[in-house]
Amino acid sequence: MADEKVFEPFFVTKLTDHTFIFNERGSSSSVLVIGSKQALVVDTLNGWNNCRKEFQKYTDEPLFVVNTHAHCDHIGGNIYFDEVHINYDDLPLLKTFPDSLKVTKVSPLKIGQIIDLGDGHEVEVLSCKGHTQGSVVLLDRYDKTLYTGDAIIAHEWLQLPEATTVETYYEELTKLMPYRHCFDKIISGHGCGYEDASLFDNIYAEVKKILAGDTENDVKLTDDPYAGECMVRLYGDPDKGNRILYQEDKIR
Ligand SMILES: [Zn+2]
Repeated sequence: MADEKVFEPFFVTKLTDHTFIFNERGSSSSVLVIGSKQALVVDTLNGWNNCRKEFQKYTDEPLFVVNTHAHCDHIGGNIYFDEVHINYDDLPLLKTFPDSLKVTKVSPLKIGQIIDLGDGHEVEVLSCKGHTQGSVVLLDRYDKTLYTGDAIIAHEWLQLPEATTVETYYEELTKLMPYRHCFDKIISGHGCGYEDASLFDNIYAEVKKILAGDTENDVKLTDDPYAGECMVRLYGDPDKGNRILYQEDKIR
């Protein structure tokens, strides 16, 4: 992303005639997927600006709003909506941000739930615990795309207190393998475009190696105020920010 763009409230990227990404000042991203019956909103950014108004510049359809997980840069804009949907396993985390709960109805997002956008365009909710206890990914077979929030992202954070063990994350990725042929690209929660689905394969392979004890090249991270102290594992192209953060005592 060009530097000057980070000063705009929303940096909008059009991917298809019905798919848009909204990045908020270089921080997190929302995806808007417009169907004939309703439009899907994947995450609501930080709440710095009224994202609902921005989305409604692109569609008149009702908005079905999903939080992939309950981190502040994915739920902050909930305050602009009457109703949002989240996996209730992340409700304890969501309650640590009480402001959004005052004005917004929080409805359960069920694993296996189908979000019908109309005319055969359906999106399925799948579990992907790891980054948080209630993280989900959304499978769009129509567009062969997986919307992942922070659950499958180049810089995968498993070191946070609210994360699962590395082993649980691996088990969750394993459960997604039967769906792997249904998507060939990923839109994660901090990008401005498609990423190749090989990102899934690469993270899966690296997490498997961590579980197998192949960690001698991983190093301790001590100087990142946001990430905290943890182990960092580099993989693939480090210039693309490819790294997995985890705690040595939370592998299993
Ligand atoms: Zn997150």
